[in-house]
Amino acid sequence: ISSQAHSIILFGPPGAGKGTQAVRISQTTGKPQISTGDMLREAVREGTDLGNEAKGYMNRGLLVPDSIIIGLISERLKRSDASGGVLFDGFPRTIPQAIALDKLLITFGLKINFVFELIVDDEQIISRVVGRYTCKNCDTGYHDQFLKPKIEGVCDNCGKKVFIRRNDDNSQTVRSRLKDYHRKTSPMISYYSNIGILYKINGMLGVDNVTKKFNATKLLQVGLPIT
Ligand code: AMP
Repeated sequence: ISSQAHSIILFGPPGAGKGTQAVRISQTTGKPQISTGDMLREAVREGTDLGNEAKGYMNRGLLVPDSIIIGLISERLKRSDASGGVLFDGFPRTIPQAIALDKLLITFGLKINFVFELIVDDEQIISRVVGRYTCKNCDTGYHDQFLKPKIEGVCDNCGKKVFIRRNDDNSQTVRSRLKDYHRKTSPMISYYSNIGILYKINGMLGVDNVTKKFNATKLLQVGLPIT
């Protein structure tokens, strides 16, 4: 009898729309979103030792060392909401992380059913990342050109008027993030396609059309109770 809770990995270059889609997939499937980027930004804001160590890498557009990331994930998976399966957003990002994850899956009784790769051209990535910002209060994402709030300067979702931009969302840093993506993250494509669980999604479509592509896969099956 299999008692492994179904889980999902979402990966793709910075600005591919992982975070946006992750929020939606999390709602559809009921799986908690585990974003290492969000967890690191929170640690940086809180000024923890881990945050202080990660900050230098993040601001330069470099990947944070695997040992830090693996430690974060193993702590996170101990929480009870992970026991029914999770949605990994932005993790794993290197082959050593993927190997460490395989071990953690056994420990925590989880199984990866879907790995989604969001595909977006490098040119498009740069313009998406450089123009993006979020509401400081509710984290809703916007873009200078592609996704403006309905009323200028007012968040559609919560009505607040303060917005923030990520430190690492500038044209210089995004280039090093892209380089790391091609060098260190894209080898995971064959790692997961070899075991037959990789699904490619065209991330160039509009946000809602990308969501439709996800929903057209057997995605909902992972929301079903464990058998
Ligand atoms: P993200 O929000 O996913 O774009 O992540 C922002 C930054 O956090 C990245 O540019 C990395 O510096 C760091 N980071 C997030 N997730 C990982 C990971 N799995 N491995 C290494 N570094 C990461």
